[in-house]
Amino acid sequence: MEKSRRKIIESKRIVIKIGTSSLMQANGRVNYQQFDRLAFVLSTLNQGDKEIILVSSGAIGVGLNKLALHQRPQTISQQQAVAAVGQSELMNLYSRFFAHYQQTVGQILMTRDIVEFPTSHQNVVNTLETLLAMKIIPVVNENDTVAVDELAHATKFGDNDQLSAIVAEICQADLLIMLSDVAGFYDKNPAENPDAVLYATIHEVTDALMAKAGGQGSIFGTGGMLTKLKAAKRILANGQGMVLAQAQDPALLFNILAGEKIGTYFIGANTEGGVGDE
Ligand code: ADP
Repeated sequence: MEKSRRKIIESKRIVIKIGTSSLMQANGRVNYQQFDRLAFVLSTLNQGDKEIILVSSGAIGVGLNKLALHQRPQTISQQQAVAAVGQSELMNLYSRFFAHYQQTVGQILMTRDIVEFPTSHQNVVNTLETLLAMKIIPVVNENDTVAVDELAHATKFGDNDQLSAIVAEICQADLLIMLSDVAGFYDKNPAENPDAVLYATIHEVTDALMAKAGGQGSIFGTGGMLTKLKAAKRILANGQGMVLAQAQDPALLFNILAGEKIGTYFIGANTEGGVGDE
């Protein structure tokens, strides 16, 4: 086994991020199989020796489906209305699917100002820690109703890739696993280049690497790989690790956490256990 992946096996507190494209079917309907598999895998891990925090997008996707809309509305307030419907439906789905596996979940909605305001920051930390101590899986998303940027008061995280890196930071997670519709980070966009080569390990997010991140892959996709690399940069700056892997079969998480060489592992070269045979 790759030496550096030992750190993954030992990780206890893990943030998992999943994007809308991995929760919805291509036709815009909810992918129930995916919710069920995710609930099964995360419940099993959380009821073992791991502490799981889920960062989930999907409020708008689920909201569009619930309201039988075929495309995102134009105005911000209309999008916020769709997200308001979708967020409660999203949590309803998680609550029901996790209940099959005797797992309780709790909703945490955040805005970016928790990064700047120490009291708000501390309240989020306290809530997360208390949920984890109660063996409840926190399900985190941005508070879309409040998150509109004003001058001198930034409330938007930008995207859930950043949000997941910030969550990993504030709860001092051992690992962030970002699930996407690709198997990891390639030397060029695999959707357009069949000969693209997957990176197994990345120690530093350089500008040269950023230049290899092409556009988004699916209609639900948000930032493509750029936002994922920016999140990885933050993770590395904090001396943490991140795995970018395919969301298609959440059971892959068992293999990742067993140290198998899956996806792209971002780990600092100077981080303990960070230098391995690549
Ligand atoms: P998600 O919805 O899971 O957050 P996105 O659709 O925003 O994911 O981004 C993933 C997409 O990024 C992939 O489907 C792929 O087409 C595209 N992409 C662009 N450049 C790369 C690259 N260098 N390596 C991997 N994927 C890339």
